[in-house]
Amino acid sequence: MLKPSQLSSTKYLLMIAAALIFGWFLDLIAWSLVAALIVWSTLQLHQLRRLKNWLAQELKTDPPDASGEWGEVFDSLYRIRRARRQREQNLQATIDRFQQFSAALKDAVVIVDKHNNMLWWNLAAQHLLGLKDRSDTGKPLFNMLRDPHFIRYCQRGNFAEPLLQTSPHNSAIELQYLITEFGDSEKLLVARDITDLIRLEQTRQDFVANASHELRTPLTVIRGYLETFLDQGNLPDSLYHAMLQMQQQSDRMQSLVEDLLLLSKLDSTEVVVDEAPVDAPGIILSILESTEQAAQGKKHFISVSLADNIGLIGREKELHSAFSNLIYNALRYTPTGGDIQISWSCDTTGGCFSVTDNGLGISSIHLDRITERFYRVDDDRSANTGGSGLGLAIVKNVLHRHQGHLEIVSTLGKGSCFSCHFPLDTLVEL
Ligand code: ADP
Repeated sequence: MLKPSQLSSTKYLLMIAAALIFGWFLDLIAWSLVAALIVWSTLQLHQLRRLKNWLAQELKTDPPDASGEWGEVFDSLYRIRRARRQREQNLQATIDRFQQFSAALKDAVVIVDKHNNMLWWNLAAQHLLGLKDRSDTGKPLFNMLRDPHFIRYCQRGNFAEPLLQTSPHNSAIELQYLITEFGDSEKLLVARDITDLIRLEQTRQDFVANASHELRTPLTVIRGYLETFLDQGNLPDSLYHAMLQMQQQSDRMQSLVEDLLLLSKLDSTEVVVDEAPVDAPGIILSILESTEQAAQGKKHFISVSLADNIGLIGREKELHSAFSNLIYNALRYTPTGGDIQISWSCDTTGGCFSVTDNGLGISSIHLDRITERFYRVDDDRSANTGGSGLGLAIVKNVLHRHQGHLEIVSTLGKGSCFSCHFPLDTLVEL
């Protein structure tokens, strides 16, 4: 069977042949051929014009009727147009769905390019961040969100931790900013309204602070009476032991209440590092002078190495509390005869306070959660040593407020090393 293009070539050859025969009869072969070519060219021009008109309508109408090669051209273009229209429809449907989805999102979503210019944002971004209509597209994000903390957070480029801030558009809204980098250093910024969470957290903090405060007075009275009774020394044996245990438990309760109050205070105050130099080696030495109770009569071999001319810029009370928690833990969780090394040193990366012991150690499965409030490796272990379960939470919190961090290396049955790292710019010469 002949293809349309072959048909068209055949027609062309037939026309030439007819012109040749006609010309031969009239003895005007050349003129006859010229006439045939003019007719052929006119037909081609006509088809070209039809194509041009059809293209001018952006292929929106059906293709013109044509046979042969022209028919093939029109059909191919028509097929391409149909496929393109299908792709456009699919794309539009995806865009529509994405827009519906992003409009339904309660979180503000903003996409910025590598120069921090805004490319796109959703409806919630207008309510939560005060971004205006599409006419702001391409403008710098920092023109809209001008808070210096936010700008510094974006420029630092470390987005592992979210940023918590009040909305620039509505001061009653608390936001959590999460940034993810993608593609060619573009960024996806998500701002989530966490006002209710913050309020809940505040209520929790207030409750813990109030409850701890209210427990303080009755506890002081109970401890006072217990001390008086025990001091009298004329108690029968059975009563004496019961009272001694009551005293131990009320001491434990007292330290729990004190730790809870301290944590509430740390939680409720801003991260401000006072510009006061603190005598870090002095603090460590003063803690070591009062380790008797924590050691519970156990004899340890304690070695101390202190860089005594290096201090820290920070809050003395908080640092005292963090360092003492680590030293007391080493004393409590290291059996008699164990070694404890305490050191305060500095190098080009910063300062480091570390407490190393060869005591009970901690299994690696607990290390991720050990600094959580009331997280305990083993309840019996802590109960025997009178721990509150808040010590390491206090250490972590205090270090965070001093731009430092806690490193824990421990092996069950072999011992532990707790290191507090401080950045170089927080160190001072004493
Ligand atoms: P606690 O008041 O119970 O000691 P912490 O927050 O200070 O609470 O410590 C949490 C848990 O970590 C403790 O219950 C204890 O099991 C473990 N721990 C802390 N320090 C040490 C240490 N030096 N050696 C072994 N275990 C430790």
